Amino acid sequence: AAKRAGGARCVGFEPHMESDAAWQLELQNDLRGAIERGELALHYQPKIDVKLGRSSGVEALLRWNHPVHGAIGPTVFIALAERFGLIGHIGNWVINEACRQMADWAVQGLRMRVAVNLSVHQLRESDLAERIGSALQAHGVEAAQLLCEITESVAMEDIRATQHTLDGLARIGVFLSIDDFGTGHSTLNYLRQLPAKQLKIDRSFVSDLEHSAETRAVVGAVVNLAHALGLCVVAEGVETQGQRDILQAAGCDEFQGFFFARPMPAERLLAWLQAGQPPEPRGNP
Ligand code: C2E
Ligand code: MG
Ligand code: MG
Ligand code: MG
Repeated sequence: AAKRAGGARCVGFEPHMESDAAWQLELQNDLRGAIERGELALHYQPKIDVKLGRSSGVEALLRWNHPVHGAIGPTVFIALAERFGLIGHIGNWVINEACRQMADWAVQGLRMRVAVNLSVHQLRESDLAERIGSALQAHGVEAAQLLCEITESVAMEDIRATQHTLDGLARIGVFLSIDDFGTGHSTLNYLRQLPAKQLKIDRSFVSDLEHSAETRAVVGAVVNLAHALGLCVVAEGVETQGQRDILQAAGCDEFQGFFFARPMPAERLLAWLQAGQPPEPRGNP
């Protein structure tokens, strides 16, 4: 089942779209020139550090402002981009744009840690670490300010092909995060060998927390396991005070979710940070 698109104004994935060949073809054609036409943008969603009580960094989430269909979320077009060989180009744009934004924030006196999402196709490119290194250098950004999120299933999918890239990223000082944890099937042994710093508990667990004692037990165990492996734990998709409280008691290190803030354009993030980062009222984009 597809995930709902992030922002309220994004076109979500609907089952009929997948079978709608004409819609797919139209999007595919439009996507080819989207970067050159300046239609892609990164939105940023804060991660809140539990101990500091404030934002410790942000996750960059890709948006496509389609001239006709409006804002389209990544769950709709990333898979399309992967299928039609466009993900390398798009992925490069994301990395460069994130670095450019970090440099821009630095000029404004803000040292912001940014996480980008990588697709499995990018991990298979043997020169990914070099290219990320050059992007950081070109914008004068420290490697330790960049985090790469890789979904658990991707990290485990093609271990031999990706290990080289992951080690390369770790070597240049870029941090790795295991995204959507709990949806894949990691072996403990591999998890132990991954050069990761962060583990993100998938939203599906967080949304069950308040109603399921089993889920609370699983989340508690995952937090302990992650800490034993030296990983910092982020809970994604935190939408309620109740979830927040349970996660805090379980020992989570960071929260991310609509309860705190939705993904937002860079300018709005600055205002949000300056306003003292109050939790947003529910349903307010
Ligand atoms: P993800 O990396 O797990 O990102 C979290 C998703 O959950 C985002 O959806 C975000 O908007 C949404 N979210 C955050 N907090 C909440 C919450 O409290 N409730 C709910 N219901 N949702 C929440 P988004 O932006 O639609 O992105 C979906 C997925 O697309 C991402 O999942 C990521 O896997 C992928 N993606 C996003 N940007 C990129 C990119 O630049 N490159 C690649 N390869 N994939 C990307
Ligand atoms: Mg992510
Ligand atoms: Mg995630
Ligand atoms: Mg997710």
